[in-house]
Amino acid sequence: MVKASRETRSKFLKVKCPDCENEQLVFEKATSVVECTVCGRVLAEPTGGKAVIKADVVATFE
Ligand SMILES: [Zn+2]
Repeated sequence: MVKASRETRSKFLKVKCPDCENEQLVFEKATSVVECTVCGRVLAEPTGGKAVIKADVVATFE
């Protein structure tokens, strides 16, 4: 059986866009820039590890 998860579990973050208050899910380790689906503001930028979240995190899901 393939080991699917590594030591640190990745999470999904529910973030709120600071500009338009749209809420959407962002993968904690996003590999590409995540933009707000409503206004296009950058909400997360990839770093190779955890993404830099540039919005308000309102909830996390594991
Ligand atoms: Zn927005």
